[in-house]
Amino acid sequence: MRDETSSMRRPIRSAALDMSGAEFRALGHELVDRIGELLDSMPDRPVTRAESAADIRSLIGTAGLPEQGTDAGRLLSEVVPLIIEHSVYNGHPRFLAYITSSPAPIGALADLLAASVNPNLGLWETSPVASEIEAQTVRWLAELIGYPSSCGGIMVSGGNAANFLAFVAARKAIAPWNIREKGLCADNRRLRVYASRATHTWIQKAADVCGIGTEAIRWIDTDGSERLSIASLDARIEEDRRKGDVPFMVVGTAGTVSTGSIDPLPEIAAICKEQQIWMHVDGAYGAPAAALPESPAELRALALADSVAIDPHKWLYSPIEAACVLTRKPRALPEAFSFSPSYYRHEEDDTSKNDYYEFGMQNTRGFRALKVWLGLRSAGRAGVCEAIRADMALAAQLYDAVDQHEELEAHTLNLSIATFRYVPADLRNAASIADAYLNELNRALVGEIQQGGELFLSNAMVGDCYLLRACVVNFRTTDADIQSVPNMVVEAGRKLDREMRPAAGTN
Ligand SMILES: *Cc1c(COP(=O)(O)O)cnc(C)c1O
Repeated sequence: MRDETSSMRRPIRSAALDMSGAEFRALGHELVDRIGELLDSMPDRPVTRAESAADIRSLIGTAGLPEQGTDAGRLLSEVVPLIIEHSVYNGHPRFLAYITSSPAPIGALADLLAASVNPNLGLWETSPVASEIEAQTVRWLAELIGYPSSCGGIMVSGGNAANFLAFVAARKAIAPWNIREKGLCADNRRLRVYASRATHTWIQKAADVCGIGTEAIRWIDTDGSERLSIASLDARIEEDRRKGDVPFMVVGTAGTVSTGSIDPLPEIAAICKEQQIWMHVDGAYGAPAAALPESPAELRALALADSVAIDPHKWLYSPIEAACVLTRKPRALPEAFSFSPSYYRHEEDDTSKNDYYEFGMQNTRGFRALKVWLGLRSAGRAGVCEAIRADMALAAQLYDAVDQHEELEAHTLNLSIATFRYVPADLRNAASIADAYLNELNRALVGEIQQGGELFLSNAMVGDCYLLRACVVNFRTTDADIQSVPNMVVEAGRKLDREMRPAAGTN
C-alpha cells in the first residue's frame, strides 16, 4: 500500500532494467515454486543428461547481442527450464565427484536476499550490517574448526583465492626486505615455498602470479599415503638456507584433493616455529572435519598454523562461491594488501570496523558471508558436525562395500574420499596384472559412468594407478545410494571390458 502511494507521488523513470515490487513478487514466486519442485524431484532425475557441447549450444542459439530487450516474465519462463533441465546437479544424492557439495537451500535464499539489497562489502560504511556479519562468520568458522577466534580473515571466492591471500600475506610477513615496495629483486635472495607433491595447483598459480616463479616451489616427497615427508622437508629447508635463500612458507594440506590425506601438521608446525617460517594449512576441503571431537589430532593441529584456507562451498554446503582465509595474525592481511587510497574516507579512530578492501585483492565485494552465516545458524555446530560425520561414514561404507566386491579393488579412504578401481575377475589374480590396460579401462569407466546419468564419480591418479574416486560432501546421499554404487560400477566395467579387451590384447 505504502509503496503505491509513495510511487504515485514520485516521478517514475522508466528504465528497462527496473521492476515494480508487484512484478518482482509475481516472477519471484513463480521462480521459487520451480526451484521447490526441483528440490523435491532431484533424486528421481538423472544426475546429468550428458548432452554434447553442440546440443547445449543449439539450445542457447548463436544469436548476437540482442538490440532490444525482452519481457522479464517471458525470459524467465524460457530460461528457468533451460537451466534446470540441462545442468549437472551437484545437489543430487548420487553426485559424488570432485569436492563440490550439495548446496544448502537456505544459502540460495541468502544469495537472493544478498543480491537484492546488494551491500558493497569493500567499505564498512557501505555495508554496516553485512560487514559485521562477515566478521562474525570469519570468527565462527575459526571457532568451528578450533582455530583461535581472535584471528583475522576474509571471505573470498574459493580455495584458490583463499590460499593466494595467505601466500601473499606470508610473503610480506617473512621477506626480510620491503617486498611490497622493492619487489623481488631488492636483495638478490630468493624466496622459497615448501609443499608436498600432492598439493593443489593453486600453489603454481600463486608462485607464478607473484613473480617468484614455479621453481621457487620446493616439491617435497610424500610417503606411501600421500603425506608430506618431514625428513625431506627438513633437509630441503637446510639446503636452501645454506645457499642464502629465504624459506618463507610451508604448506600443509588438510585433506588432499585426490585422496583426502592429511599432512603431518604437528611436525610441520614444529619446524616452522623453529625456522621462523609461515605455516599455512590448505584446508579447502578437509578443515571442517576438524570440528568433530573425534577427528585425528593431526588434523586439529591446523590450529597451530599462521593461516588456514577453508572452503564453505565444499564441506560446509554453501552454494558456490564461498571460501575464507583465516590468519592468527590479524594484521597480516592489511599489512599485505592495504594502500589506504585518498578516495575513501578513513576513520582512524575505529579500527574495529573492517574495510575489507584493505584485506585482500577485491575492491567492490559481495555479501558471500550471508549464505555461510545463515547455513551455520540454521544447522548449528551440531547439525554441521552431524552432516560431516555422516558423509565420512558413507565414504567408509563405500570403501568396505568395494573392498568386499571381487571385481573391485579398494585403494584409499581418508575423510570422506574413497578411491578404488574396477578389475575384471580374471585379471584380479593374474600373475602380472596388466596395469596399462587397467588404467585405460578405468579411465574409460569414469567417462562411461559420468555419461550414464545414474551416478557421478571422478578420478584420481595414485602412484601409477588410475582410480575412480568418490567424495561424499553431500547431505542428500543415503545408505541406499552408496549401496547401489558397486553394482553400477561393475556393470559398466564389465561392458567396457568386453568392448575394450580384444583390442587391448591383454590376456
Ligand atoms: C578444492 C581445493 C582447492 C581449490 O579450491 P577452489 O574452491 O576450487 O578454488 C585448493 N586446495 C584443495 C586441497 C582443494 O580441495
